[in-house]
Amino acid sequence: MSPRRPFIVGNWKMNKTVTESVALVRELRGLVSMVRHVDIAVAPTSVALQAVAKALEGSNVSVAGQNCHAAASGAFTGEVSAPMLKDAGASWVILGHSERRQFNGETDAGVNKKVGAVLEAGLLPIVCVGETLEEREGGRTLEVVARQVKGALDGVKAEVGASLVLAYEPVWAIGTGKTATSRQAQDVHAHLRALLTGLWGAEVAAKVRLQYGGSVKADNAAELLAQPDIDGALVGGASLRAADFAAIVKAKPAG
Ligand code: PEP
Repeated sequence: MSPRRPFIVGNWKMNKTVTESVALVRELRGLVSMVRHVDIAVAPTSVALQAVAKALEGSNVSVAGQNCHAAASGAFTGEVSAPMLKDAGASWVILGHSERRQFNGETDAGVNKKVGAVLEAGLLPIVCVGETLEEREGGRTLEVVARQVKGALDGVKAEVGASLVLAYEPVWAIGTGKTATSRQAQDVHAHLRALLTGLWGAEVAAKVRLQYGGSVKADNAAELLAQPDIDGALVGGASLRAADFAAIVKAKPAG
């Protein structure tokens, strides 16, 4: 049996008004209330985060931010900081999502600063890594994810390492309907765990939860989650309907 609790996170991206967000989690909390063996979180927009956190009070679903700024406060128009997300009810922050790397120029060094800010605020990061199609076809997948992991986690101490989450999200599988095969995903996850062993030692690396993300749906989740190094999923599109997301949460059998 894996020493790691499965962790399923729904990344809503720029979807749902505050009203729609609250309606979604009201439905979701009922659907997953009996699930005891899986950690569950949703990442609404920052404008909806507080209302969602309130609607989830007393439930087994926690809340994540989708991004944050590296500074705690200051003259950064349009940004949101880690302490603000925490105060609004978040426990986690997704960092380095490929859409932010692609559309907002996020770099490994920038993600690294944000990891520090998130930990400093008493939150935990979900750090996303993954290769583009061109990188995969060029045989560079492992080299790319190694660079992203080492860059994002530079200076992070082994003591905190075990509580972080890494999400492997091949860019070519995000929102495309193309999922990595369970074999492809497991191979990269095993490589990530070996990298973490190099960074923090085997004992810590064995505790780090590694999520797969990229067109996870109710009908492919069970096979992906059955892989020895896949400890959960970061779910985009399929997290926008309560029934679909709940089905993914329930795809991992207890025990
Ligand atoms: C994501 O954005 O993290 C993601 C995995 O999206 P999707 O499930 O829609 O591919």
